[in-house]
Amino acid sequence: MNYKIPIETSARHIHVSQKDFELLFGKGAQLTFQKELSQPGQYLAKERITVQGPKGHFENMAILGPFRPETQVEISVTDARKMGVPCEIRQSGDIENTPGCVLIGPTSSITIPRGVIVAKRHIHMTPRQAIKMHVKDNDVVFVITKSYERALIYGDVVVRVSKNFSLAMHVDTDESNAFANQEEPYGIIIKLHEDASYDVHTWMEELLEGINR
Ligand SMILES: [Zn+2]
Repeated sequence: MNYKIPIETSARHIHVSQKDFELLFGKGAQLTFQKELSQPGQYLAKERITVQGPKGHFENMAILGPFRPETQVEISVTDARKMGVPCEIRQSGDIENTPGCVLIGPTSSITIPRGVIVAKRHIHMTPRQAIKMHVKDNDVVFVITKSYERALIYGDVVVRVSKNFSLAMHVDTDESNAFANQEEPYGIIIKLHEDASYDVHTWMEELLEGINR
């Protein structure tokens, strides 16, 4: 069973801890709801902040609610260059040994020691959809994308399964521009190998060794 997986582009944004948010916006400050996002319970807040790196900064960065245990800034590889921070491609929440930055809010600015990541592209789905697509949580899959002039097969796409998710693939602005489909962005999981989970790195190593699966 193949599903059309809607592809959603995540522009640069930040998830904040309550503690950091209160430092930036004042004691007792709360996130103000602006718009629901595709994943249940997640929303865009009205508040905006400036995110400063050693080389450059971004003003008016969107904050996504609700609060998280730890502050995390999600940017693209292009953004990382502009800010002057090393690019760390990580799954959300995996922020050990990632660069920090300066956050500037209306009340004060703070330095976070870590948390700046380029999110690893991923697909959210429910357990039922995972069964139908023959994948499981944390599988790494290939996704063929619908495009008109720039078809792409994405490797290294992580599958995330939870009953609280709704079906969507999340890519950043660089990845979204790379396959250039603004009108009908969707992808389909393709099996290039017997194993449901197969990464490009292993595949290349095998090809170099003369193994053609
Ligand atoms: Zn996501």
